[in-house]
Amino acid sequence: METDVEGIEQEVSTGSLPGWDRVEDLVGAAHARYRDVDDGVVADYIPVLATVDPGLYGVCVAESGGAVHGAGDTEVEFSVQSISKAFVYALVCEEFGHQDVLERVGVNNTGLPFNSVIAVELNDGHPMNPMVNAGALATTALMPGASFGEQWENVRGGLSAFAGRQLELDDEVYRSESATNMRNKAIARLLQSYGRIEVDPLEVVDVYTRQCALRVSAHDLAVMGATLADGGVNPVTGERVVSGQVCRDTLAVLAATGMYERSGEWLFEIGLPAKSGVAGGIVAVAPGKGAIGTFSPPLDPAGNSVRGQRATAYLSRTLGLNVFASAPRVAEHPARMPEGTESR
Ligand code: GLN
Repeated sequence: METDVEGIEQEVSTGSLPGWDRVEDLVGAAHARYRDVDDGVVADYIPVLATVDPGLYGVCVAESGGAVHGAGDTEVEFSVQSISKAFVYALVCEEFGHQDVLERVGVNNTGLPFNSVIAVELNDGHPMNPMVNAGALATTALMPGASFGEQWENVRGGLSAFAGRQLELDDEVYRSESATNMRNKAIARLLQSYGRIEVDPLEVVDVYTRQCALRVSAHDLAVMGATLADGGVNPVTGERVVSGQVCRDTLAVLAATGMYERSGEWLFEIGLPAKSGVAGGIVAVAPGKGAIGTFSPPLDPAGNSVRGQRATAYLSRTLGLNVFASAPRVAEHPARMPEGTESR
């Protein structure tokens, strides 16, 4: 796509959240409303994930001003899984820049499941979408670091900066997935055959499998998302993690691709860039305002948490987060003003 806006300063215009008490009440309501929903199935293709308690459920909102609101199991840790893709993508964009990542990895939805091999074949080996496994493997391969060990430490350090605390590897999840991830190894080999991964593909899968096994809570997800909502500065620690431009690019990709092949439906219903993972996490980001982090393990057929989607939809509505929603500016259209009102 050709545009000629490179180098032109990005102006920013966003609204604000309701007051602290109102956000607190609505987070509590979002939790209570869906606590008893028992649809969905816990992921079991990574064997250890099948042993989780399906009743766990946490809802958290982190404001871009730094306030955090939570209800339910917001401090319970689980593996970040695919949600890591969003933050590793941001770290790689920070290193390589807009154009390079666009060309090397792509920004379009494949319309196919997250672990699709066919998607790579259909696109002549171009990974297309950094939020599903092929594109995520190609992205992880680009992480800065002189060795795979260093790349992994940079992934861990970067995601920890987004969260505002040191994140730890869940060794059991890492080992369980490493023993069963033949499909990801096949995808990495296929990308190598097309020249899309230039280093040892199995080492890339190993770094990727570790990144997916980092332990986070719903609270962490909300703070990580709020960093993307806050122009790249973690609103709790005050640390700059990535640039404002990288946040904008990452959120655009999440809007198009973050909820797998359901991304269009998600945007239509909820209107927020978001990313989900198979352990049951979802992060949804309202630029300039803050982010929602949810955790509930039972998933729908696309791999998105059932309670998490509902709680996020409720909060998007009630907190006014849908980026496509607007109301007429009555004051600026006097002809349309209700009788008896005065122009402001
Ligand atoms: N580690 C998982 C995988 O590669 C992540 C998938 C996901 O969360 N959708 O299969």
